[in-house]
Amino acid sequence: MDEALRESEQRFRAIFNDAAIGITLADMQGHPLEVNAAFQKMVGYSRGKLRKMFFTDFTHPEDITLDLAEYEQMKKGQLDSFSLEKRYIRKDGQGIWVHITVSLVRGPKREPKFTVGVIRDITEHKRIDEELKLYSKAVEEAPDGVQIADLSGRIIYSNKAVEEIYGFSPQEYYGKDINEMNADPEFARKVIFPALRREGHWSGEIMVKHKDGKVFPIWLKTAMVKDQKGKPLAMVGIIRDITERKILEERKDEFIGIASHELKTPITSAKIFTQILQKLLRQKEEKQALGYMTRIDDQLDKLTQLINDLLDVSRIQAGKLELRPQVFSLAKLIRETARDIQAGSGSHKILIRGKVKKRVHADKNRIGQVLINLLSNAIAYSPSSRRVAVKVEPNAQMVTIHVKDYGVGIAKEHQEKIFERFYRVGDEKTQPSSGLGIGLYVANEIIKLHEGKLWVKSEKGKGATFSFSLPFGKRKRVK
Ligand code: ADP
Repeated sequence: MDEALRESEQRFRAIFNDAAIGITLADMQGHPLEVNAAFQKMVGYSRGKLRKMFFTDFTHPEDITLDLAEYEQMKKGQLDSFSLEKRYIRKDGQGIWVHITVSLVRGPKREPKFTVGVIRDITEHKRIDEELKLYSKAVEEAPDGVQIADLSGRIIYSNKAVEEIYGFSPQEYYGKDINEMNADPEFARKVIFPALRREGHWSGEIMVKHKDGKVFPIWLKTAMVKDQKGKPLAMVGIIRDITERKILEERKDEFIGIASHELKTPITSAKIFTQILQKLLRQKEEKQALGYMTRIDDQLDKLTQLINDLLDVSRIQAGKLELRPQVFSLAKLIRETARDIQAGSGSHKILIRGKVKKRVHADKNRIGQVLINLLSNAIAYSPSSRRVAVKVEPNAQMVTIHVKDYGVGIAKEHQEKIFERFYRVGDEKTQPSSGLGIGLYVANEIIKLHEGKLWVKSEKGKGATFSFSLPFGKRKRVK
């Protein structure tokens, strides 16, 4: 029997000593009596040292109280085991994460006698876990839609942006066929899936369906997700809503048409005037000829103006619109600009109310350009009225200029968009045919560079008031 006992004892020792996991036997004061090799390696202290220590000596200070309540319960014999994750500080000062399970060993009278601890080093596991959490958070918050489908095409993951793009929540998508949202399911079957199988990726524009039934374009970039050996695991798609981009492209195409026409008009006029001029000069009709010279000059001015506007748009796009601030009288600039525009119009009268005595520090030419734009729009879009009112309203910090007309007005749905590049309301009845849809875009950018604001208040058919504010503060030159 002694022999049998010895053998059994040896077997258990072997398990204890050679186990790849840390094992400890401690008294009820938390004093390690036995520690195996794996545990010594884990904390870096020898068995001899550990025997003189308490668990608290190598537990991270912030985690010491973590299992205190459980431990107290265990001491009273009310709890048989518990597990948790905590940090140890190794002998070399390095922190490690461990998962421990503590079990109570009772004596013959069921009194708490020892605790057995089984301890696993989960530092690496924790690190990977943190990394994975970060990756999945990054994908979840990514500004483009990200969708993952299994090889049969069932959706197994959609991030937040997908919901914003399609209107369906990730839960509503889960398990659905990836093709259900495509406007033309055949296209995916015939083109996308074969390309994915053949080349491992596909990208292009497709039409898809929104939850509300609307069909819209997206740019899809999709790839096969493969394991290390190249075996396909899933498909991943990056989705970008390109509705806005398409609208802008269409607007740009339309704009190129209008711009070419607008640029040709003064050239055609100047050409005709030159031919008339030649004839007049041959006939020595000098006085009349001079009149045509002026008209040619006007047409060239118009052309220069158009080209300057176009150049401004590209400067803004490249972030290169410059400001050359100087101190000047805004009141005088308003007066002069209004006088010039009124002289050019012949149909409208521009009234100015309010005064600003304080001089402003701003780019005089650019502010002049904003005024010209607002005043000429006010005249152009109020063909059956004769009045435009300018109101100047200064306060301590800034001056606000309102340009009010009594013309066609602007419906609510267009009021934000008119400040976008190339946007025109395009109402055949109320709009003059010319105009490039860039004046307000440029004006808005100029005012923004001056740290002011430009806005509109209007109702369709009831005129419009465009207003901008200009702070008095000193301005840096913007280049
Ligand atoms: P453009 O006048 O060359 O078309 P703008 O950028 O100056 O370009 O204006 C954009 C659009 O805003 C115009 O096409 C017009 O539809 C609208 N708009 C601008 N000013 C007025 C106004 N005072 N009254 C009504 N509509 C206006």
